[in-house]
Amino acid sequence: MKVVSSEIVISAVKPDQYPETELPEFALAGRSNVGKSSFINKMLNRKGLARISSKPGKTQTLNFYLINEILHFVDVPGYGYAKVSKKEREAWGKMIETYLTKREQLKAVILIVDLRHPPTQDDVMMYDFLKHYGIPCIIIATKADKISKSQWQKHFKVTKETLDLDPDDHIVLFSSETGHGKDEAWSIIKSYM
Ligand code: GDP
Repeated sequence: MKVVSSEIVISAVKPDQYPETELPEFALAGRSNVGKSSFINKMLNRKGLARISSKPGKTQTLNFYLINEILHFVDVPGYGYAKVSKKEREAWGKMIETYLTKREQLKAVILIVDLRHPPTQDDVMMYDFLKHYGIPCIIIATKADKISKSQWQKHFKVTKETLDLDPDDHIVLFSSETGHGKDEAWSIIKSYM
């Protein structure tokens, strides 16, 4: 998809702040520092729209990006950041759970993992949570440029096996550095619209 416009429309905490539209939404989840902001920026051809690595774990809002006036990306705060209090973690969990389980416009969750390493316990937990609620899942295994191409398939296999992916889940090998996987990711997103 050719992105011609993208803007942040709202940073929401509560459901009554979500945009009042019927547009399809795709939520982006991943642990802090995994490369989620870089993924968003690459997909939207924007350099600094999603803030890269500013205060990890601190953006406790759902950021809605309106794209081409036809869909929303919903950036979910990253998980697994150690320096977050129990109370903050609980607030995070509640906000995310409310959004993911109640939002009718949500078409799929784009779960970002690091191709270089096996998915973490938190990644597996997030994936299992989505499966439990029957939420379609698109896995993005990013930072592919950081390992040699000859290693890609081996790492890709470990990612699939660790998450125990369902055959109907989509997974894309990605790099925000080179743009590898971008067209494939867009065509999968479009198939859910
Ligand atoms: P977030 O916390 O998940 O939003 O992660 P960021 O997008 O801020 O990325 C964390 C760090 O990883 C930054 O230094 C990025 O430049 C780097 N990074 C993210 N994606 C890639 C990628 O595909 N390739 C490379 N080489 N670096 C990446």
